[in-house]
Amino acid sequence: MWSSLQVRPGIRVGFTDATAGNLAFHVGDDPALVAGRRVAVEHALAHGTGASPVDVQLAYMEQVHGAEVAVLDGGSQEAAPTADAMVVTAGAGSAAGLAVMVADCVPVVLLGETQSGEAILAVAHAGRPGVEKGVIAAVAEQMRRSGAVSIEAWLGPGVCGRCYEVPETMRAVVAARVPESWSTTSLGTPALDLPAAVLAQLAACGVPAHPSGVCTLEDEQYFSHRRSQRDGVDEGRFIGFITASAVP
Ligand SMILES: [Zn+2]
Repeated sequence: MWSSLQVRPGIRVGFTDATAGNLAFHVGDDPALVAGRRVAVEHALAHGTGASPVDVQLAYMEQVHGAEVAVLDGGSQEAAPTADAMVVTAGAGSAAGLAVMVADCVPVVLLGETQSGEAILAVAHAGRPGVEKGVIAAVAEQMRRSGAVSIEAWLGPGVCGRCYEVPETMRAVVAARVPESWSTTSLGTPALDLPAAVLAQLAACGVPAHPSGVCTLEDEQYFSHRRSQRDGVDEGRFIGFITASAVP
């Protein structure tokens, strides 16, 4: 069963798993079921805050494997922006929540703090194209533009460097940009290590990060796009999220 971690007073970070079901509309699942599961996740999060439950609403993105960063105003729920990262300032009196959908790509959740102690929340979708296009540097830059003076990151489950087999040429291209991505599968074939690449990119931006260590292709508790392709059934997407409860 998935859970969340309180990383600062009022701020929670977490990753869902198969028990929360598919949370993506774009994989051919019944939209009513997906909407119901999204509400169930929000209810579980509100309940999980204990004494002062908040009305948690998670904002989702239309993810396109790019490096666009959407800046939300923290107000009412807008239409899902087309982007692969989102940033919002958790202002006084309003709750905020962000979600990133994944199944093998690396979900990254970031928390920044401003000089005056305000929280800057962010999420990023770091698959192979996102790693190549620099979505991590883009989101860190936007968080600093929004006033963050310090940033911390959490990685969720993603496909590991021993499982993510790619053509030799693809490995060469990505490793030329991010040397830490170079890997070999357990069978000795060319591979990419996306979690290692993301950690290196975060470190290059001066962002300390908590790795996940969980591989989506090996651990059936999480959805895996590659396993879906192998088995011919799209399991869908789980999410990484960060929420801030309203500051009274
Ligand atoms: Zn693996």
